[in-house]
Amino acid sequence: MESIRQSDPLYIGIDLGGTNIKAGLVNPAGKVLARVSVVTGRGPETVIGNMVAAAHGVLKTARKTPEDITAVGVASPGPLSTSRGVVLRSANLPGWENVPLRDRISTELGKPAILENDARSAAFGEYWGGSGRSTGARDFLMITLGTGVGGGFVHDGKLVSGAHDMAGEIGHTIVLPGGEQCGCGQKGCLEVYTAASRLGRRARLMIREQGRRNSTLRSVLERDGMITARDVEQEARSGDTLAQEIWEDMCRMLALACVNAVHWLDPKMIVLAGGMAGAGDFLVDPVKRYFSEQYWHMSAPEVEIRTAELGNDAGVVGAAMLAMQLHTK
Ligand SMILES: [Zn+2]
Repeated sequence: MESIRQSDPLYIGIDLGGTNIKAGLVNPAGKVLARVSVVTGRGPETVIGNMVAAAHGVLKTARKTPEDITAVGVASPGPLSTSRGVVLRSANLPGWENVPLRDRISTELGKPAILENDARSAAFGEYWGGSGRSTGARDFLMITLGTGVGGGFVHDGKLVSGAHDMAGEIGHTIVLPGGEQCGCGQKGCLEVYTAASRLGRRARLMIREQGRRNSTLRSVLERDGMITARDVEQEARSGDTLAQEIWEDMCRMLALACVNAVHWLDPKMIVLAGGMAGAGDFLVDPVKRYFSEQYWHMSAPEVEIRTAELGNDAGVVGAAMLAMQLHTK
């Protein structure tokens, strides 16, 4: 079923990031046949030029021509309008305002194109070509734990973008009323307690302001001048009390968000992705435990919580497969 036939229609997915542009040639099974990564650059014109170059680079690598491609999918940071194909603005892309990215890419490559939010694209990619594929789940939620926390929801095989292209802002669901200030203007957002960038910061504050000076994280801070989420994970694994406290708190908040998500959406599966998902069972086991503790008693939990399979390819695969979904009807 996964075999690549000459006659398979092919799609290009382009994942636009603040630092790198990733492009890939993707078959209908969601398998990446060739990939290219280039530096993003600055300013819409330069970046669009680099995206087109990345797409041509992929074709060259795979010994294909634009004629072999059916459609192109673009994943971009938002906010954006999927219906108009316009990037409204972006914190990660300075100078971008109302850029008609979908139509520009479509014109440059001479193919139909779609535009989708990067976090939602990644969720759809994992659904189509990763754990959604291997388990047959058609109601699927992915939560990506990175510098920020985002995600996406697939209902009955269709990505949910929402009425205003805002679906999947899972990082900004409030898990603690009146809690810590989030960069978005709200207080107590999930992102404040679970983003990778926040774990090290929390450790630093607890060492400096709460006198938690006997933690092994203090030596890490003195050695490196900073503490990363990976440091917190490693020291928690080694038995450091402070690191364990921070890790457990993060898992409890994440589990709380999962309980709420189940009551909103009833997904078959919740997939944890992003750098922190590399912790594997060390992340999933406590999340499951806190999930069961906090979940209601009306029925046993049926949702499956697990880590993602695709990693860095998810955005490229999702964008390409969304283009397929739209252009093969
Ligand atoms: Zn927020």
